[in-house]
Order: sequence, then C-alpha cells, then structure tokens
Amino acid sequence: MADFRLNRLSIRENYLKVMERIARAAQRAKRDPDEVKLVAVSKTVEPSRIQEAIEAGVSILGENYVQEAQKKIEAISQKVSWHFIGHLQTNKAKYAVRLFDMIHSLDSLSLAEELNRRAEKEGRRLKVMIEVNLSGETTKFGTEQEKALELARSVLLLRNLSLVGLMTMPPYFDDPERSRPYFIQLRGLKEKMEQEGICLSDLSMGMSNDFEVAIEEGATYVRVGTAIFGPRK
Ligand SMILES: *Cc1c(COP(=O)(O)O)cnc(C)c1O
Repeated sequence: MADFRLNRLSIRENYLKVMERIARAAQRAKRDPDEVKLVAVSKTVEPSRIQEAIEAGVSILGENYVQEAQKKIEAISQKVSWHFIGHLQTNKAKYAVRLFDMIHSLDSLSLAEELNRRAEKEGRRLKVMIEVNLSGETTKFGTEQEKALELARSVLLLRNLSLVGLMTMPPYFDDPERSRPYFIQLRGLKEKMEQEGICLSDLSMGMSNDFEVAIEEGATYVRVGTAIFGPRK
C-alpha cells in the first residue's frame, strides 16, 4: 500500500522533472520549449500507472507493440494522443491505422503503401515519420540514410499519409554526449531534404538518457519512458 502511494507520487514528480529539464534544454539552445513535445513511452506500463501520468499532464503516449497498445487504449478513457514508435509489421498496419495518431517508425515503402491503403479505407490521413538507422547496427530497424530521401519522395506521393519528420535511435551510450553526432546527422538529413524541396517539421530523437542533448540539436519530439515510469521489468 505504501509502495503504491509512493509510485503514484513519483510518476507525477518524474514527469514534472522531465518537463523542467526539457524547458531548460530548450532555453540553453535558445529554442521555444513549446516546440518540444514529450512522448511518454508506456511500453510494459500498466493502465493505472499510465493514467497517473495523464493526470499529471502527459498528453502523448508512445507504444511499441500493437496488441499491447490496443488493450491499454481500450482501458484508458481520457482523450490522449497515441503514437506508435516500435517496429511495425505490415500485417499490423490495419490496426495501427485505427489506434494511432502518428507512426514514428516508418521504415519501408511496402509498409508505407499498406498504411496508405488502410488509412484510405478508414477515410483518414495518418501522420508518419521515417525512421533512419544512422548507426548501421543490424539490431536496429529503420531505413539506411542513403535510402531515406528516396523513401521520403515515395511517401509524399501517398495521399493518405502525411510525412511530418524523421526519427532515429542511436546506440545506447552511458554518456549522452556520444549520441550528439547522431542527432546532428539526423538534423543534417532533414536540412538536405529541405534543399531537395521536402520540408519536414519534426525530428523525433532523444530518450531518457539523452533527450536534453537531442533538444539542443533540434528534437521536436522526445520519447521518454524510464525517466517517467521508472525501470521496465
Ligand atoms: C523504449 C523506447 C523509448 C524510451 O526509452 P527510455 O530509455 O525508457 O526512455 C524511446 N524510443 C523507442 C523507440 C523505444 O523503444
């Protein structure tokens, strides 16, 4: 009982601390803190604790697995925005289109075409970001940097998708400064696309360990799980 109350308190406190760190990082970079949106990553977190976060002020939740997310979205009555941030299999596109407001992890044309087809059926336009694998790690999903521009051009032709930005996930480092080159690289890719006439508004980068560095380098979405909900089991 005591533990539970402590938990309830800590989610709210963690959230407020993260928001303060976001604001300070934005100020350091001479950016408007409102440009940076927090995606609270709730994978493995049960609905009651997600609700605590919503009551504290969280308005965007990030999930990695379609089936897990579906259960939670049904269980949570508050009106919040759900973003998909994990690897999406083409055969789950139908459900993803129904459940999520944005997909951060678009990584292939075949997935884009299937999402577009499903979004058309649902009569909606789905916001997507292209996930770019900058580290070349084979354990990570995402399109190669060299293929990102071509994928972006193709996605722009799909009428029921709205391409809003790029996402990346650097390798894990204890020292967040080591993520900085990856964030600079993603921003550089966005600028390169702008030169090619593709204007994107968003960069989804930065997690619990390195979101401040990501904000300094231009992140508009940070995806933070552990720093809000505590370590995952
Ligand atoms: C789990 C996850 C996060 C959040 O990671 P934390 O280190 O817990 O903040 C962010 N982005 C993606 C894609 C994830 O899978």
